[in-house]
Amino acid sequence: MTVVLADVTVGVLALQGAFSEHVQLLRAAAESLALKGAPAQSPPKWSFVEVRTPDELARCDGLIIPGGESTAISLVAARSGLLEPLRDFVKVLRKPTWGTCAGLILLAESANRTKKGGQDLIGGLDVRVNRNHFGRQVESFQANLQLSFLGDTVDKSANEPYRCVFIRAPVVEKILPHRDGVQTEEQSREATVVAPSKAPGDKLAEKETTAQVEVMATLPTQTPALQANPEHDHAGSEDIIAVRQGNVLGISFHPELTADPRIHVWWLGEVLKAVERRRQFEVVDRSAS
Ligand code: GLN
Repeated sequence: MTVVLADVTVGVLALQGAFSEHVQLLRAAAESLALKGAPAQSPPKWSFVEVRTPDELARCDGLIIPGGESTAISLVAARSGLLEPLRDFVKVLRKPTWGTCAGLILLAESANRTKKGGQDLIGGLDVRVNRNHFGRQVESFQANLQLSFLGDTVDKSANEPYRCVFIRAPVVEKILPHRDGVQTEEQSREATVVAPSKAPGDKLAEKETTAQVEVMATLPTQTPALQANPEHDHAGSEDIIAVRQGNVLGISFHPELTADPRIHVWWLGEVLKAVERRRQFEVVDRSAS
């Protein structure tokens, strides 16, 4: 019997930055997922849409926030009436959301080296990011890294290193404890902004909120001086460049500026699992009431 998994809509926030590149890689990823689908299951019907309005966001099951300039993205989001709907999407509904570079900054609960008054955060990840940790545009670099989270869910090419492109990239400077008072402490730090708190919308969303921050990838440190800085969390001599907490994923580099869809393939798999969890939860919830 053919089982249709779901109709799934994934949005890419299209206010500024590398959004069309993400849409292209999502299409490539969906094609490669369709080729690999188990014979008993027909692949979900994917729709990939650019998101510029609250209505477009409301139709999405998952969202990508691209690289670009986080101050510009947050400014346009505020002007388009999207900031609060974005916070609801990530923190109240806890739908799968993935930020790359500027997107990671926007999804952090705390960000430093920010322009005074020039930045609103969405939040969702209990981390503090350092906005331009890896330097200016001219200091952009690429690193071939083994991304173990790709595992064998993608295919055997998962073992090949991924070409990670860093452009004015942020680093995860600190993993913050999930407790009351952290926000006030963060806010009192110099040139640091925090995201407003939002309570999860239901029991399933609550689970995602209280999930641990997982370090998904690190990079051999580029700035040895930081090793001596007690403020900086690092796994040994590594800088944290990818984290996940429940429904939220943040990555310092730009997969969308490569032609390699492996992270998109993996993430679409995670989106599918989340959509299935949500649909099952709603069925149980409805039958219990
Ligand atoms: N550091 C940039 C910012 O503050 C992000 C750079 C990028 O997305 N390439 O938005």
